[in-house]
Amino acid sequence: MKDDNCIFCKIIAGEIPSRTIYEDQDFKVILDASPASKGHALILPKEHCANIYEISEELLAKAAKLAKKLAAHMTAVLGCDGFNLLQNNGEVAGQTVFHFHMHLIPRYKGMKNSDLLNWTHEDFAAEEQDDICQKLKLEA
Ligand code: 5GP
Ligand code: ZN
Repeated sequence: MKDDNCIFCKIIAGEIPSRTIYEDQDFKVILDASPASKGHALILPKEHCANIYEISEELLAKAAKLAKKLAAHMTAVLGCDGFNLLQNNGEVAGQTVFHFHMHLIPRYKGMKNSDLLNWTHEDFAAEEQDDICQKLKLEA
């Protein structure tokens, strides 16, 4: 299903050009137009879904399998030293395009954005951590 106002749907439909590195019936994988590192790519499901809350478990599982395959392939081709998989949901979490995507970010020793994803930790009292832990418990 295509959303006419969605830039990634337009890329998937070929209405907006992109540098495509992989395509199958479920996904298109393109180079990010504003890359954080050499080879930074995006896995786009062809079906429009805004985020982790909307994507089906089945499609997400396929995206994870594809991420594994591409991480190995990209690392072999690029010779990168590490790899980040990143997936943002909601504006407050840094999402700017509201069509689910997974960032594939090759990491290199000494790269320009070496502090990418570096955050300082927040302090929570032990009781608060206990409380959060209690609230988050989920039966397997
Ligand atoms: P988000 O911040 O939503 O997790 O990531 C959106 C990503 O899409 C950004 O890294 C941004 O550079 C990339 N992007 C936005 N518009 C385009 C586009 O038209 N073409 C390509 N290739 N990437 C785009
Ligand atoms: Zn879309």
